[in-house]
Amino acid sequence: MAWDFTTDPEFQEKLDWIDEFVKNEVEPLDLAFSSHLVYDRTHEIHRTIIPPLQEQVKKQGLWACHLGPDLGGLGFGQLKLALMNEILGRSSFAPMVFGCQAPDSGNAEILAHYGTDEQKAKYLQPLLDGKIVSCYSMTEPQAGSDPQEFKCRVTRDGDEYVIDGEKWFSSNFRYASFAIVMAVSDPDVPVYQGTSMMLVPTDTPGIEIIRNVGLGNEKAGEGSHAYVRYNQVRVPAENLLGGEGQAFAIAQTRLGGGRIHHAMRTVGSCQRALDMMCERALSRVTQGEVLAKKQMVQEKIADSYIQLAQFRLMVMHAAWTLDQVGSKTGRMEIAMVKVLTPQVLHDIVYRALHIHGSLGTSNEMPLMGMWAMMPVMGIADGPTEVHKVTVARQVLKSYKPSEGMFPSAHLPPRIEAARKKFADLLEHEVAQH
Ligand SMILES: Cc1cc2nc3c(=O)[nH]c(=O)nc-3n(C[C@H](O)[C@H](O)[C@H](O)COP(=O)(O)OP(=O)(O)OC[C@H]3O[C@@H](n4cnc5c(N)ncnc54)[C@H](O)[C@@H]3O)c2cc1C
Repeated sequence: MAWDFTTDPEFQEKLDWIDEFVKNEVEPLDLAFSSHLVYDRTHEIHRTIIPPLQEQVKKQGLWACHLGPDLGGLGFGQLKLALMNEILGRSSFAPMVFGCQAPDSGNAEILAHYGTDEQKAKYLQPLLDGKIVSCYSMTEPQAGSDPQEFKCRVTRDGDEYVIDGEKWFSSNFRYASFAIVMAVSDPDVPVYQGTSMMLVPTDTPGIEIIRNVGLGNEKAGEGSHAYVRYNQVRVPAENLLGGEGQAFAIAQTRLGGGRIHHAMRTVGSCQRALDMMCERALSRVTQGEVLAKKQMVQEKIADSYIQLAQFRLMVMHAAWTLDQVGSKTGRMEIAMVKVLTPQVLHDIVYRALHIHGSLGTSNEMPLMGMWAMMPVMGIADGPTEVHKVTVARQVLKSYKPSEGMFPSAHLPPRIEAARKKFADLLEHEVAQH
């Protein structure tokens, strides 16, 4: 009997340390600096403030925990990472201080799995040391969730590969030292077998940032999601990651983890919103009593608590599944939490915001900013609909069509069969009445 919902006491001590450290040392960074600076390694804070914090994390043995010991992490696995990410999710800077920020964490994972020794030395090691940041360049302006529409091409030319085409929403390209670019290498086979992954230093000639697209609340030009054109960009043949045509097989390693890490951090954001909601409900007086005494407010608190508990259990279960079977077999569990993430974030943050009234809508509380993450969670790493399709397809695999015209649950034939089964008893009962 192995169902167990407890945390090891030794790991709980680590979580308590993380909680205090993030509260006292990391969250102030969010209050003092723009979240863009998380990735901008040219900024002063990356020389002065952040390295000593990262040192403390390393001393505690908590650096880059998603990676195995051979790569400088502790190989904690997804379950422990889920518990950590619930805390790190409170702060934009925290994942970077702990060496597990997206997209670098996912990029490091695929480099670790598929990189050659030279690629690991050149790209992975500085990434693990926190010296550089990286970018993942897959989505195109005309196509995101359907790779069959991808047009960016990569062709072999002697000792080099030539990349030509456009990419869209390549996050942090402006701060990255290299990008992992997915491009079609063989248009004559299905895209899932004809796409390759290339390691491309961002200072390679031919790269043009058309513009840095911002999210809705950012000023034009201040965004960090690049619209990039690769104009006949040449890289050495050894910059191919894995083999030709393997991009989607490799991407699965990366996207699975990335999706669930967003969900883990969202558990933390929702908990934070619930904390704010409860504190406000106990503090604000209207019509002679605190809001917490109003049944409609109690309903909001109860619904939020229940929803968060359900979501958290699903995230933990998905993390556990990944630890047992890997992200390929666990794709349905990942898809389920991916679908739930924006929904739960929306519901809980909206209720918290609403209970705060005008203050909740203001720029003096973090709630509007947290709420604005909701549509992002529904789109980034694939839209909700696509993940629902994954869930439905997996669910349907264990079913088959009914044999006759009527469903197998149709009552008349089942009642007839049951009556036959108990015919002796039923006849005896009729005879007695
Ligand atoms: C904040 C953020 C960061 C990102 N960072 C990166 C990055 O670093 N690198 C990168 O390569 N990409 C990145 N992306 C892009 C992201 O992966 C894509 O936005 C996503 O895959 C969806 O593609 P799309 O935007 O082209 O939407 P589309 O594919 O055009 O989909 C738009 C809508 O169409 C509907 N739809 C699509 N498919 C289906 C379907 N099968 N059934 C029913 N309805 C459907 C859905 O309503 C969907 O929301 C990022 C996106 C965001 C928001």
